[in-house]
Amino acid sequence: MEERKEKRIIMFPLPFPGHFNPLVQLARIFHHRGFSITIIHTSFNFPDTTHYPNFTFRTIHHHNEGEEEEDPLSKPDASGMDLVTFIRQLREGYANPFRESLKAEVGGGERACCLVSDVVWGRTTEVAAEEVGIRRMVLTTSGVASFCAFAAYPLLRDKHYLPIQDSRLDELVTELPPLRVKDLPVMETNEPEELYRVVNNMVEGAKSSSGIIWNTFEDLERIVLMNFSTEFQVLVFPVGPFYKHSENILPTTKNKEDHVTTDWLNKQDPRTVVYVSFGSLADIEEKEFLEIAWGLRNTKQPFLWVVRPGMVQGTEWLESLPCGFLENIGQKGQIVKWVNQLEVLAHPAVGAFWTHCGWNSTLESICEGVPMICTPFFTDQRVNARYIVDVWQVGMILERSKLDRKEIEKLLRKEMGEEIRESCLKWKDRANVCLSKDGSSSKYLEKLVSHVF
Ligand code: UDP
Repeated sequence: MEERKEKRIIMFPLPFPGHFNPLVQLARIFHHRGFSITIIHTSFNFPDTTHYPNFTFRTIHHHNEGEEEEDPLSKPDASGMDLVTFIRQLREGYANPFRESLKAEVGGGERACCLVSDVVWGRTTEVAAEEVGIRRMVLTTSGVASFCAFAAYPLLRDKHYLPIQDSRLDELVTELPPLRVKDLPVMETNEPEELYRVVNNMVEGAKSSSGIIWNTFEDLERIVLMNFSTEFQVLVFPVGPFYKHSENILPTTKNKEDHVTTDWLNKQDPRTVVYVSFGSLADIEEKEFLEIAWGLRNTKQPFLWVVRPGMVQGTEWLESLPCGFLENIGQKGQIVKWVNQLEVLAHPAVGAFWTHCGWNSTLESICEGVPMICTPFFTDQRVNARYIVDVWQVGMILERSKLDRKEIEKLLRKEMGEEIRESCLKWKDRANVCLSKDGSSSKYLEKLVSHVF
């Protein structure tokens, strides 16, 4: 144990909460096993490091010091951005600064034994790691099924599933069941060819790595994991769900808003509250926002709704709600800017999670046994939604194109049924079994620790 303190793992997250949070959870697991941790982070979205006193942080800036030009990545968050262009800009802008930073880290006193970079950095980190002679692993913060769909892009293009044609939306993709054409992981972009390059670069970066660490558990994605391993000669370590490993179950620092939310949840009956959140990146049109608002108001269920500032296109926060709407919902509903989602999902009052099906949200809901209403927006979210509904049977779909107050009301009433809830409890149990002493995630973790050491 003590010996390992001389060994340092360098980690390079993609600077978004859905990527940074699981990376930090993994960092805690490594730290608990005796490794020192350095996190190289972009100046964009730089975190409050006081929350992570055990880790060393290094900042990299996307342009050289002293340059006059305005930072194109200086927006407070990436809501509504063309994500494909954005990822390309991140990779291009930070490749060299990362290389320099890695060189400095590896040349330092303590021996660095491994680089763990987010898979979305793709091949950006490959040359840098080779130059300094350090093992490079990748962290995939999405599920295996969606990664396999990304890896199948060349085939999907050959077979003309991509680009997606409206006339084929409901067609089964026979090579990737149970996915339908509309479930394929794509992003709207002004640069469609760039999407293929960005994805290809990510897949190649994973294939050439010394192993893929996955925030998933074997039982949940057994078949796709087997398919992946048959096709690709790269080691896989499904050690998730990271946040459920004992070293991650920490008392969280609470702010005032968390108390307000918890006090409100404490007053609700068990399993009655619909928790609504579309994650940290998705944005919606004002028209959709109003349909959701009325749909929630018209149901009998109490609701807790996260509306991030800037999430509704063209508005700052809630100003497009009709006059008197908030007074009218009174204590039945809470609209907040952000919550501690893990605490909310674990609260006994929460009966359903209306989600965009980001991978972390999906995994967190499965692990807490909360059924989902799925409204996927882009990338892996559509794949996750299909698996939630058809494979794991822990949720129902509400397509974004059908966001209508009547549909919402109807579905929210239905969701509270018992069949789905039984499936949820089964998966919750299975996640716990995987994390137990002899469970698959624990065993893979042992292998992973030996591999990076
Ligand atoms: N999250 C949170 N509070 C919120 C909304 C989200 O703590 O109000 C967390 C959530 O627990 C999850 C992450 O933010 O860990 C979102 O990641 P996900 O993969 O679900 O979606 P993304 O934001 O990447 O689209």
